[in-house]
Amino acid sequence: MGERIDQNLRGGWSPAGGVLPPHALTWLGGRIGLRPRRTPAAPDSALEVPASALPEAARDALGAVVGAGHVRLDRASRLGRAGGLSYVDLLRHRAGGELAAPDAVVLPGSPEQVVAVLALCVEHDVAVVPFGGGTSVVGGVAALRGDKAAVVALDLGRLDRLVSVDPVSRIAVLQAGVTAPEAERLLAPHGLTVGHVPQSFERATIGGFAATRSAGQASSGYGRFEDMVEGVRVATPAGEWVLGAAPASAAGPDLRQLVVGSEGAFGVITEVSLRVRPKPAVERYEGFVVDGWEAGQAVVRALAQARVLADVTRLSDEDETEVSLALAGGVKAAAVRAYLKARGVRRPCLLVLGWHGGSSREVLARRAATLRLVSGAVRLGTAMGEAWRHGRFNGPRQRDVLLDVGVCVETLETAAHWSRLTELRDAVRHALRDALGNAVVMCHVSHAYETGASLYFTVLAPRDADDPVGQWTVAKAAASEAIAGLGTISHHHAVGVDHAPYLEAEIGGLGVDVLAAVKHALDPTGVLNPGKLIPSERFRG
Ligand SMILES: Cc1cc2nc3c(=O)[nH]c(=O)nc-3n(C[C@H](O)[C@H](O)[C@H](O)COP(=O)(O)OP(=O)(O)OC[C@H]3O[C@@H](n4cnc5c(N)ncnc54)[C@H](O)[C@@H]3O)c2cc1C
Repeated sequence: MGERIDQNLRGGWSPAGGVLPPHALTWLGGRIGLRPRRTPAAPDSALEVPASALPEAARDALGAVVGAGHVRLDRASRLGRAGGLSYVDLLRHRAGGELAAPDAVVLPGSPEQVVAVLALCVEHDVAVVPFGGGTSVVGGVAALRGDKAAVVALDLGRLDRLVSVDPVSRIAVLQAGVTAPEAERLLAPHGLTVGHVPQSFERATIGGFAATRSAGQASSGYGRFEDMVEGVRVATPAGEWVLGAAPASAAGPDLRQLVVGSEGAFGVITEVSLRVRPKPAVERYEGFVVDGWEAGQAVVRALAQARVLADVTRLSDEDETEVSLALAGGVKAAAVRAYLKARGVRRPCLLVLGWHGGSSREVLARRAATLRLVSGAVRLGTAMGEAWRHGRFNGPRQRDVLLDVGVCVETLETAAHWSRLTELRDAVRHALRDALGNAVVMCHVSHAYETGASLYFTVLAPRDADDPVGQWTVAKAAASEAIAGLGTISHHHAVGVDHAPYLEAEIGGLGVDVLAAVKHALDPTGVLNPGKLIPSERFRG
């Protein structure tokens, strides 16, 4: 517990960063015109943290509830919670200068303490930013105070317990600050798994997943995080709210779903009851190549509509496949290219499929059902599937090293119905390329449904040396405009600050009014996460 709370969460994924081999730099030079330059992150000492504005009376009152040592005003604690992990967050941390840091970090030790902390924050007019793993990429944990006197980061790291397991119903109750690896470690002795494996797995928390409607890499098999939530315990300024009496209910609208995805704007999730599954004894991953995006997405659609998706189903488009092979380099990548050429594949699109099960027999039966519909694909076997599994958490480390050599590297995501998926992909690709010029825009599908799928874009472009934040802000706005009307502004990264201006286009003015009305009921003075989810001008506390 202490280790996570004390680690330096600042700007970047891990001290043991990724590696960018020389052939990758050469390829980037040819493909996007990158002229590599050394742009290392500024040291901590180059960052300015403004003096804390937390009134002394508030500090003492908070300390009386959580313990004086759990109200931290030191520079390292505040710096470590100064924003999330979007490209722009990383640029700000790397550049040096003044950072918007919380005035204090508060570490409650129980759900009851969270209720008491919120009451004090209302009394002292202090804004509260719930802070899980701090992996938000949409400004969700930005230290915004709105119209409040000060802002604290409410770090849930001390809520780190497995509360109970009901093996008969297969439900586990976990506290909100439990990280994903820790949840798996706590459930392993019970032979159970959550099965939620986003790319942010190493750092993100159970509460953060619930607050953002997260989707993991195995969402086709285990479902999105909201599908796993059986119940929630939530602390709000209006009191505690506990939901989830039965697996299904007709007692009015499902209010759990109002809490799931509320991004800390309605309350602080302190416990989550989760549907859990037996830990799989066998996992099998395989790689395939389909000729062209259209053929690939037709295969995934057929699998989804026949309900025979593999637990992990991930289709890369031509650009993403090209980049994967180029960055891998070496004789293996060359051999794959030659093999595909010999097999007549002109526009390779990598399809990774992974099945989990209780026995080899079960996995092979499910695999057979899937593969009946994977027609015309070239099989690359388990080595390619395992290579993907092995490297599936490397993205953020690679991002750090790409940042070091002057690359603009960021991701964004959306989803749409099958009939509009290609139109949406084209629109976003054009918008990003028009805005960034010499860029490679990669795309993959990693979450598929009977009626549609997600699209996840990764952009690489030479970074503007003078105004990198402005360069990306323009590109992201262009992509968001392209998405509006065709798909959702977010399939799993949530709204945060960055997507708030686009929310009304998706859910209507009435939808925003409904969210604001709920916030009025639970957080009447608006201390919780000002400026997140609901655009500031649509909520006055
Ligand atoms: C490299 C990288 C890869 C990623 N990959 C994925 C992915 O594959 N799938 C995916 O879905 N997302 C992904 N994300 C986004 C991010 O990890 C998710 O949004 C995640 O759910 C956030 O969890 P967290 O614990 O870090 O929450 P935080 O970042 O701490 O918080 C996210 C939001 O939820 C609020 N919040 C946090 N905890 C609580 C709580 N207990 N109660 C109420 N509100 C709370 C915060 O105030 C904030 O608004 C990725 C991010 C990064 C940096």
